Amino acid sequence: MKTVAYMKNDAKQYEVLQWASLFLKNHQREPYVAEILLQHYLNEPRAKFLANMRDPIPLAIVEQFKKAIINHAKTGIPVQHIIGKTEFYGREFHVTKDVLIPRMETEELVQCVLKKIQTIEPLTIVDLGTGSGVIAITLALESSHHIYATDISGDALKVAKHNAISLDATVQFYEGDFLQPMIDEEIHPDVIVSNPPYIAKEDAEYLSDTVKDFDPDLALFADHHGLKAYETIIKQVRQLKSRPKHLFFEIGYNQGEAVTRIIRQAFPASDVSVYQDMNGKDRIIYANI
Ligand code: GLN
Repeated sequence: MKTVAYMKNDAKQYEVLQWASLFLKNHQREPYVAEILLQHYLNEPRAKFLANMRDPIPLAIVEQFKKAIINHAKTGIPVQHIIGKTEFYGREFHVTKDVLIPRMETEELVQCVLKKIQTIEPLTIVDLGTGSGVIAITLALESSHHIYATDISGDALKVAKHNAISLDATVQFYEGDFLQPMIDEEIHPDVIVSNPPYIAKEDAEYLSDTVKDFDPDLALFADHHGLKAYETIIKQVRQLKSRPKHLFFEIGYNQGEAVTRIIRQAFPASDVSVYQDMNGKDRIIYANI
C-alpha cells in the first residue's frame, strides 16, 4: 500500500507542511494556517522552526497536528481557538470561545486613542465590552491613564482578567452592560472606547463559518441594523453625572453616517470624525462631545 508522506514514521517537517497546505487549499482554507499550527505543536521559536525544515517530526506530533488541520479544514474552527492565543499590538493574548478574536482593525482604534489622548495628567478611560481585554490592556500598557473595562459576560471577563495578570497590566474590571457599572459605581470616565457588536442580524448569512460558528453571537450581533449598542451607550453617557469629553468607537464599514447621527442627536455641539482602516473602509468614529 502506498503510504502518504505525512504518515511515514520519519516524515520530514517540510513534507508534513506540504501535505497540510494542500489539504487546506483543497478545502478552501488558508494554507498559511499549517505553519502556525505546526510551529505551535512543535513548540519552537520561529527561527528554529524554519531552520529545521528537513528534520523528521515525532509521530505523536504529526498525529496531533493532522487532527487539528482536519478539524480546521472541515469546521472552520479558527486557528486561534485551537492554539488558545492570538497576537494584538505585539503582545500575546489568551482567547477562548467566550470572546471575540481580536481583529487587526481594532489595533488601529487603539492607535487612534493613543494619538488623540496625550495629556500630562492621566485621564480615566473605560473600554466597554472588553471581551479578551485587548483594548483596555493595551491602553494600560501603552499609556499612564487609569483604565477601566466592562463586559456583560462573566466568562469573557475571566479571559480579560487572565490576560491582564499575565501581561502585568493594571485594569479595573466590572461586570455589566456597557457603561452601567460606571453609572452604578459613580466612576466618571473622561474617555470612552468601545468595539461593540455591530453586525446586523440580517447580515449573518454573509459571514464565514469561521466567524459565524465560533465568535460569540453576543460579540458580533446588534439589533436595529447593528446600531443598538451605539444607541445604548449614548443613552448611558447621558446618565453619567459628569460628561466624558472623548468617545471612540469601532464601527461597521457602512455605519459612519448612522453613528454620527446618533451622537449628534444626543450631543448637538459635538465634533464627530470618521476614520478609515488600512483597507480604506470607514472603521473608527471619534467624537469630542
Ligand atoms: N473589545 C474586544 C475587541 O475589540 C471585544 C469586542 C467585541 O466582543 N465586540 O476585540
